[in-house]
Amino acid sequence: MTKLIDIDSEIFRGAPRVNLSRRAIVTGLAAGTVFPFITNCTTNPATGRSQFVMFGDEQVASMAASAWTDMKSQTPVTANSTLKNRVLHVWERTLHGAEGKGDIAAGQNWDVAVFDTDDVNAFVMPGNKVGVYRGITELTENDDQLSAVLGHETGHVVGRHAAERLSITTLAQAGLAVGQIAITQSETLSKYGNEIGALGGAAMQFGVILPYSRAHELEADKLGVDYMHQAGYDVKQSIRLWDLMDAQSKGQRPPEFMSTHPDPAHRADELRNYINAKGYAIV
Ligand SMILES: [Zn+2]
Repeated sequence: MTKLIDIDSEIFRGAPRVNLSRRAIVTGLAAGTVFPFITNCTTNPATGRSQFVMFGDEQVASMAASAWTDMKSQTPVTANSTLKNRVLHVWERTLHGAEGKGDIAAGQNWDVAVFDTDDVNAFVMPGNKVGVYRGITELTENDDQLSAVLGHETGHVVGRHAAERLSITTLAQAGLAVGQIAITQSETLSKYGNEIGALGGAAMQFGVILPYSRAHELEADKLGVDYMHQAGYDVKQSIRLWDLMDAQSKGQRPPEFMSTHPDPAHRADELRNYINAKGYAIV
């Protein structure tokens, strides 16, 4: 089996598919029932970013629930209690650093699974589910780096990335014409509007969805550093984490442009700038 070296590349592999036919979407659009977001893009209070989300949190969580159950039944969970306790401890401390951001609040229940495979990966699913693979815990040299991974996952939650991504994927199914309406409403998408116009349908794959996803990864990295800092972890270790990921993935990853994830070296550079700008440390 190919070893995954990328944070949260599993999220959407087993994730919900929305089976709305193009016809149903277009009909719903005409009736104003399917895409109320076109006039109602929301601003995420935690990030200040304009977002395009057509599914409610509960809706997305119920769609993710079966994917989570499947994943837990198909992937072995670690029997190593030391490892499990380490992950839980770092998770709880990092999550505490994010309290008050977005929907993260004290006293919430989270289902955390530590999977016993070599994959260098971790993910979060709607409905407070977190998956961490043994492989990524073994890559990390200390708890600060593990906190960088888990802070990143928490960043996806606060950023409401799953709902936004599910929405844009559904939108892509509905077709480009509808897409162009929403593009003007979303900050992330508007950056790519010209390319979409020029390239047509292919841009929905390579011009919108991929950069959109990379923008999410970078946003999650930065939010994660905020939570690490708040939790008292060493934020500089987030840069080291991406250096380690880079070293592990040499020769195993496609060029950055074609990947759904930013190049690790690029992520490290972005984090360096962010940590300096925030004054968390001098790096
Ligand atoms: Zn991610």
